[in-house]
Amino acid sequence: MPAQGAKSCYRAVVFLGPPGAGKGTQTRALAERLGVPYLSTGDMLRDHISRGTALGRQADAVVAAGELVPDELVNSMVGVWFKQQSDSNGVVLDGFPRTVNQARELDQWLGNNGPVVINFRVEYNELIQRLTGRRSCPQCRRIYNVYLKPPARDGFCDCDGARLTQRPDDDEQVIRERLAAYERQTRPLVEFYRQRTKFFEVDGNQPPETVTNQLCRILEGADVVCNQQ
Ligand code: AMP
Repeated sequence: MPAQGAKSCYRAVVFLGPPGAGKGTQTRALAERLGVPYLSTGDMLRDHISRGTALGRQADAVVAAGELVPDELVNSMVGVWFKQQSDSNGVVLDGFPRTVNQARELDQWLGNNGPVVINFRVEYNELIQRLTGRRSCPQCRRIYNVYLKPPARDGFCDCDGARLTQRPDDDEQVIRERLAAYERQTRPLVEFYRQRTKFFEVDGNQPPETVTNQLCRILEGADVVCNQQ
């Protein structure tokens, strides 16, 4: 980390991996640590859907079916967000890019400083258990799992007592579709990035704290601070 008071500039950090790999937990923590903005395209799309915007109405059925929202829609949504971050010293991205087309668009936005890419590998059955058991608190956004990390009182948040909710696309049938969409459209990004940028892999089967430690070690050696000229 830079000396206190010095303005540092970080490369974009992209988290790749299937749904349920634990990217959301790690991206939020990392963005906080680096003090840079964080984007989850899934959160952004769910927000559009709940507000009933034009984009939300176009994305709703696609997200509910577990498929990917078309590139043109996602690229223009993320493009607007990127413009708003023009003063920031870096970004952490969760769920974007998810196709080679999106990755090419990102390359154009980033110019010379290509992203640092962290790929999460997790076994299929572990993903199914994580996603079918996932519940979250609508107030503090804390994530639980009814099998792996249950709340003290069934169905309610330990922190604020709010009733936990389940994402509609965490239904088992839809989960299988999301994992198939990952295999078809997102996995090709692993080779795309492996060949052209700083690319690292993390064993996401491990507990979150172990993954965080591994990530810290990777990022310390990864020259995440970018060329500032
Ligand atoms: P997530 O919260 O990242 O699991 O995303 C939830 C859903 O939002 C996905 O299953 C897709 O339908 C949609 N989505 C999120 N990010 C993207 C993206 N980059 N490209 C296309 N669809 C996306």
